[in-house]
Amino acid sequence: MDQPTRPTIGILGGMSSASTADYYRLINQKVNDHLGGHHHPELLVLSVDFGIVEGFVRSGDWEQGGEFLAAKAQQLERAGASCIFLATNTMHKVRPAIESAISIPFIDIFEVVAHVIQSKGMKKVGILGTYPVMSDPFFVEVFAKLGIELVPPSEESKREINRTIFEELTHQRLLPSSKAFFMDEIQRLKDYGAEGVILGCTEIKLLVNQDDTPNIPLFDTTELHCEVAARMAWSPIE
Ligand code: GLU
Repeated sequence: MDQPTRPTIGILGGMSSASTADYYRLINQKVNDHLGGHHHPELLVLSVDFGIVEGFVRSGDWEQGGEFLAAKAQQLERAGASCIFLATNTMHKVRPAIESAISIPFIDIFEVVAHVIQSKGMKKVGILGTYPVMSDPFFVEVFAKLGIELVPPSEESKREINRTIFEELTHQRLLPSSKAFFMDEIQRLKDYGAEGVILGCTEIKLLVNQDDTPNIPLFDTTELHCEVAARMAWSPIE
């Protein structure tokens, strides 16, 4: 049996389990579409207790959050992961703590989406996500370097979007009223001048997708992150 050696993709997930299930499904599907037959990627999924992570986000205890996820990333590295995909936008806030604890590459979700937006020639995009993602500029530099300005929703909308994510989407509760609210928000961001909108939370795709908003491009962070993971997974190690 002469098969090329391919990397083992490490997924640090569980934030929430609803979106990590999507990562697992999407990466498998994309690699199989590319390689054909019965071929699938090698994946290591470490799915954490979201109850713990949600506590860090609610209390804003990023230091402890960083220590917690850094230890989990090390566990993935020891288990044989070739790289780490952190399957949440919000916890990218602790990327430095994770990155300094491992010696394998960390594939940043915001860098992935920023380069896709740049390739479309867009300069101003809206962002939807958890409250820290919409309010805290921890990743703004990644976009600014590529000449992309981010447009957040109003303060009132940020709070309702954040509530919907934690009280509904992470529990896989998908309500028509929340879908209508998200679609209104996307339209409002377009009215503020956004040329597209980033779905900057890995669960939003459960509620809205491109077919729902044909007049404005959506950048789904889950889909784009998984696309990069799949490409890495199917590429033989030289
Ligand atoms: N999955 C979400 C995100 O992409 C939010 C949950 C979390 O706090 O990690 O940001």
